[in-house]
Amino acid sequence: MKKLILFSSLLFAFATNAQIASTDTSLIKFIQLTPSVYQHISYLKTQTWGKVGCNGAVYIEGNEAIIFDTPTNDKSSEVLYRSLAKSGIKVVGVVINHFHADCLGGLKFFHEKGVKSYSSKLTQKLATADSVEVPQIGFENELKLKLGKKTITNVHLGAAHTRDNIVSYMDTEKVLFGGCMVKALEAGRGYLGDADVTQWSNTIEKVKKRFPKAKIVIPGHEDAGGQELLDYTAKMFMTDKK
Ligand SMILES: [Zn+2]
Repeated sequence: MKKLILFSSLLFAFATNAQIASTDTSLIKFIQLTPSVYQHISYLKTQTWGKVGCNGAVYIEGNEAIIFDTPTNDKSSEVLYRSLAKSGIKVVGVVINHFHADCLGGLKFFHEKGVKSYSSKLTQKLATADSVEVPQIGFENELKLKLGKKTITNVHLGAAHTRDNIVSYMDTEKVLFGGCMVKALEAGRGYLGDADVTQWSNTIEKVKKRFPKAKIVIPGHEDAGGQELLDYTAKMFMTDKK
């Protein structure tokens, strides 16, 4: 009898908690942040910093998932896609944070699989000018997406790491995907080639005001944390503020 109870509670655990594991950890890793949100980490070779880990997120509800930023290329995106498929989870949408390769490097793969992609209209414009894969559905300032009954708010609040960078908030999870405009604790300023350092701390203040209940904040690179990541980033660019 005891065994039977244990078995059924295990089944229950699997039914309510999505479990995913990478099928190739050399290309992509997952860190579970809440029962339904994972951080995904894939890698980009850069001239200045060498091999850099790049963050995205996976939000799972039932047997569907929305991805925030693709892994860095088509190969790592395929591993993500397959890792989810192995757990019976289908990718139903991809949200692109800004026009850089660490956000949309694997977008072509998802388009080939028929997955819809979303970004700000400004990201579409900058990706077009850069001759990279362009997200399909553009929004002006804000786009609410539904995943099952859960709501995701995607919003452009101003320039920072790039002019087009957005943030995405998973309401019921209280998880904010900040992307590259948010720095991990102890991180440096990173690549500033497309940045607006004069607006960066202003934009972070707007993010803080808009999502004061965010418990988990995922930066573009390195470890997730809480609101302290927003404070750390705002402080970093305070002296450049205009
Ligand atoms: Zn970037």
